[in-house]
This record gives sequence, structure tokens and C-alpha cells, in this order.
Amino acid sequence: MSARMPQTPAAVTPRFRPVLDRFAPYQPGKRPPGGAGAAYKLSSNESPFGPLPSVAAVIAEAAAGVNRYPDHAARELTDAIAARFGVPPGHVAVGCGSVGLIQQLLEAVSDPGAEVLYAWRSFEAYPYLSDLAGARSVRVPLRDEGHDLGAMAAAITARTRLIFICTPNNPTGTIVPRADLERFLDQVPGDCLVALDEAYVQYVRDPAAADGLELYRERPNVAVLRTFSKAYGLAGLRVGFLIGHEAVAAAARKTMLTFTVNSIAMAAAIASLAAEAELLRRVDLVVAERERVRGELLRMGWTVPPSQANFVWLRLGSATPEFAAACDHAGLAIRSFGQEGARISIGEPAANDRFLEVAATYPRRA
Ligand SMILES: *Cc1c(COP(=O)(O)O)cnc(C)c1O
Repeated sequence: MSARMPQTPAAVTPRFRPVLDRFAPYQPGKRPPGGAGAAYKLSSNESPFGPLPSVAAVIAEAAAGVNRYPDHAARELTDAIAARFGVPPGHVAVGCGSVGLIQQLLEAVSDPGAEVLYAWRSFEAYPYLSDLAGARSVRVPLRDEGHDLGAMAAAITARTRLIFICTPNNPTGTIVPRADLERFLDQVPGDCLVALDEAYVQYVRDPAAADGLELYRERPNVAVLRTFSKAYGLAGLRVGFLIGHEAVAAAARKTMLTFTVNSIAMAAAIASLAAEAELLRRVDLVVAERERVRGELLRMGWTVPPSQANFVWLRLGSATPEFAAACDHAGLAIRSFGQEGARISIGEPAANDRFLEVAATYPRRA
């Protein structure tokens, strides 16, 4: 050791921001349990279908070009999204999944003292990404498993910089009705951004549901977050997008990590838009399974909020760990939330049947 090296006691470790001690790292959906019998992963709301042959071919082709950096401006994908949704390319920003865009927006608004408002329970990324960005989370409890927009409006302060509305809500599956959302948006100050997180929009069949793309057009402080992870089946590739007015999209582009959307993901996303009709037929199958699963659960006596997403929610309370263990024993990985409840993704019919068997024999009904 050189004589000039500072003498540091071995017990001293690098110093990190105290915020890191306040939250647990993101918990990815559980892998299916190993052992006998087919195991199913119903813990992350993924598509049960593998990539379409047309998309798989584009992925293989794009793989041959990975010695080059991707297009940071994502021009081709941005144009494809803009054309598909009938918006100007300047209204589009991309990110590493919509989680990436959530982080980009938080980075863009979080000056010291900034507050971020969202319903709870909702998507788990909101709390920890808000903490990391240095914003203060203000959480408004769900009412009847849905957003309590009256209470959320009352929780807005002069410091509220960003509001997340997750519809359908993860993990409860409930939607925000259009009329209610419009009334809420009318009460939000123009300098406060509202992000409508529509990760599951393709699974919505309720005609009363709000459509973010309609609402954002007249409202410069409203942005829509969408993802290729769920209905389009590209969770492993990490690409999502935002549609919002010029200033919002520009802010999201500035806070994006350089080259964050890789070239394979961009090619696959463009191919998925081209194959959308085929992908949406798969979504129809999942929706039919969702209705079957919820109908069966109701028939058994379970309480299940009406889901417009590709999962169902059981508010099991203190029975949650026991129920999750019963699923685990049957070869099903589901997503349980402490002593609160469990979210079960809609998978292939055999997986759903397996889940219904567990639900039918489980002694306690939510
Ligand atoms: C799954 C999910 C996302 C998106 O995840 P990405 O894979 O990062 O696009 C965003 N919001 C909600 C509510 C989700 O459930």
C-alpha cells in the first residue's frame, strides 16, 4: 500500500443516499415453482403467447445489426406510432418500457418539494421511482377497488407536479369512467401533469371507460402512457411510449437515458404495429378467458372486482400468503401483496383451469 493512500477503517462502506434505505428493490413477478407437473407463470400480466412469426423474423434480422448504436431519436418507431394513433410525431416519446417513461416524467418534474399524487394500491413502480427522483408521494386509498377521484382532487396542492391515473388499475383491474375522469381533469391546475397509465388498454371492453387518446387532445397537461409489453407481447424487449403535447413529449425525451430503447426492440415494436390485427385477436382470446375465470370465481362465491385488464384481483387480507402457497403447491406463480390480496394473470386456458381448481378447493373466499 502506498504511503499516500488514506487509511480507511475496513468497516466503513461507501455512503449512499438515505432514500435507498427507505424502499425495497422492485420485486419482479415470481417464477413458477419447480417440481412435478406443468408450472405456469401468472404473476406478471404477460401475454401467454410467444412472438408472432412475423415479429420473430424481424427480431432475428435486427440482431445482425447490433454492432451499431440504435437511433437515439427513434425516428422510425416514433413515426410508426404517430401514424397508428393519428398524432403528430412531436407528440410521441419512447422509453425503456412505460416504466422508463414513468421515470423520465418523474425526473422531469421533481424539483425539491415536488409532490406526486396517485391512488393506492396501484402500480408498484410509482412509489419507488418517486422516492428515487426525490419527489414526495401522496397516496389516496382506493374506494371500492377503484380510483377515488374526489379524494384525489382534494389532495392536489400547489406542490403537486405529477398525477398518475392507472386505468385499468394494476392490481385491481378497475377502470376510471370517462365522465368521472373529465370532471377530475377539470379540477387539475394546468401546470400539473397528469399521466394516464394505459398499460392494459387493449383489454378494455367497457364502453364507459376513459380513452386517454381522446382526452389528451384538448388538454396540454395530459399524457398517455402505453407499452408494447402486455397486449403486444414484447415484455422482454422493453419498449413503451408516451403521447402528449409537444412540451410534455420534449421533456420526456430530454430525461431519457441515451440509447435506452435498443434497435431490436424498436424493430419488433414497428413489426408489432404492422401485425396489430393479429395481436388483437390474441387479446380477444385473453378477454374471453378473463370473463370465464371471473364468472367461475363469482359462481364459487368469491368477491372479484370487475376486471378490464388481463388479471383478476382477490382481496384475501391475512389469508393472502396461505392462498399464494396453495397456488405455489399447484404449480402456479401468482403475485401476492403482503396481507392485502393477490393478483392472478389470465394465462393460457390450462393455466386458468389450474387456478380455478385451486380457487374451488380453497376454504376461505375473499
Ligand atoms: C406492466 C405495467 C407497465 C409497463 O411496464 P413496461 O414493461 O415497463 O412497459 C406500466 N404500467 C402498469 C400499470 C403496468 O402494469
